[in-house]
Amino acid sequence: MPRGYAFLSRLAGFAVSFSFMATLLHAADSSPLKAGFGVVDITPQIEAGKPTWLAGKELNRAATGVHDPLYARALVLDDGQRKLALVLVDSIGLPRPSIVRAREGLKDFHHVLVASTHSHESPDVIGIWGPSEGVSGVVPAYVQRVEAGIVEAVRKAAAAAVPAKAEYATAEDETLLGDFRLPEVYDGVIRLLRLRRADDGQPLGLLVQWNSHGVEPDKNSLVSRDYMGSTVEALEKRHGCPVIFFQGAIGGLMGTPKKLVADARAGKISGGIFGFIDACGAAIADLAESRKRFRFRYE
Ligand SMILES: [Zn+2]
Repeated sequence: MPRGYAFLSRLAGFAVSFSFMATLLHAADSSPLKAGFGVVDITPQIEAGKPTWLAGKELNRAATGVHDPLYARALVLDDGQRKLALVLVDSIGLPRPSIVRAREGLKDFHHVLVASTHSHESPDVIGIWGPSEGVSGVVPAYVQRVEAGIVEAVRKAAAAAVPAKAEYATAEDETLLGDFRLPEVYDGVIRLLRLRRADDGQPLGLLVQWNSHGVEPDKNSLVSRDYMGSTVEALEKRHGCPVIFFQGAIGGLMGTPKKLVADARAGKISGGIFGFIDACGAAIADLAESRKRFRFRYE
C-alpha cells in the first residue's frame, strides 16, 4: 500500500471512529432514549469432511475445534423517532452483500451498522483464506448463519430495550499497539460507551473500541474470538453487563503490542498462542479500566 494512502486511510479511520461515538451521543439529545443489548452464538460446527477454513493470514488452516464461541452482538438505540442498530460479529470481516441481506430482515430500523471484530481465528467469509491460493474458503451455509445471527441479535436487543442513559470515557496507551508498516502512526485511545438503566442505574451494556488486528495466527487451528474475546470476557466480569468490541482504525498495519510480541518470543508468556491472545486481551481490558470517570452526556 502506498505510504500516503496508508496514512490518509488511517486518519480517515480515526475520524470515523471518533465521530461515530459523538454522533451516537448526539442522537440521544431528544428524549427518551431506549437501549437494549442482544447476543447470539454464531460458532461454526466443525465436522469431519466439511472443512471450516480459518481466515487471518495463512492459507490452508482447516479448523480442528473450537477454543471459544463466536457471537453476533447488537446494541439497539431508540429515541422514539428513529431506531438504530449497531452490530458486531466475531469475524475477519463481512462482505457488503451479507449486510444488505441482513438489513432486508430489519426494515423497521432507520440505520443498521454491521461491523466485524477482525478475529484472525474466525472462518473465512471473504473468500481469500481457503485451502490454496485462488480457492475460496467460504462455506455459504455458515455465511447465511451469520446473516441470520445479525437479525436475531438485533431483534433480541430491541426486545430488551428499556429507558437508558449514556456515558462516555476514554483512556490512552499507544504502547499497547505495534505498527508493523511504515509510517508508524498510532491511535492509542480506547473509547468506552456505557448504557445504564434510567430507573436504577444498573449497567445495560458497554461498547468498547480499540484499534488492533487480531493476533498472528501462528498455525492455530481452533476457532476463537481472538484477543477481543479475552477483552470482552474480562470487561463483562468487571461491569456485569454485555460488552461489544468495536474495531477501530487498523489499516497500515496496526497489530498487537511489540512488547508482548517480544515477551512471547523470549518465552515470558506461557500457554502457547492462546496464552498470548489472553495476555493481549487482558492488557486492553486493563487499559479500559484505567479510564478517568465516565462523563454523563445524556440522562
Ligand atoms: Zn488482519
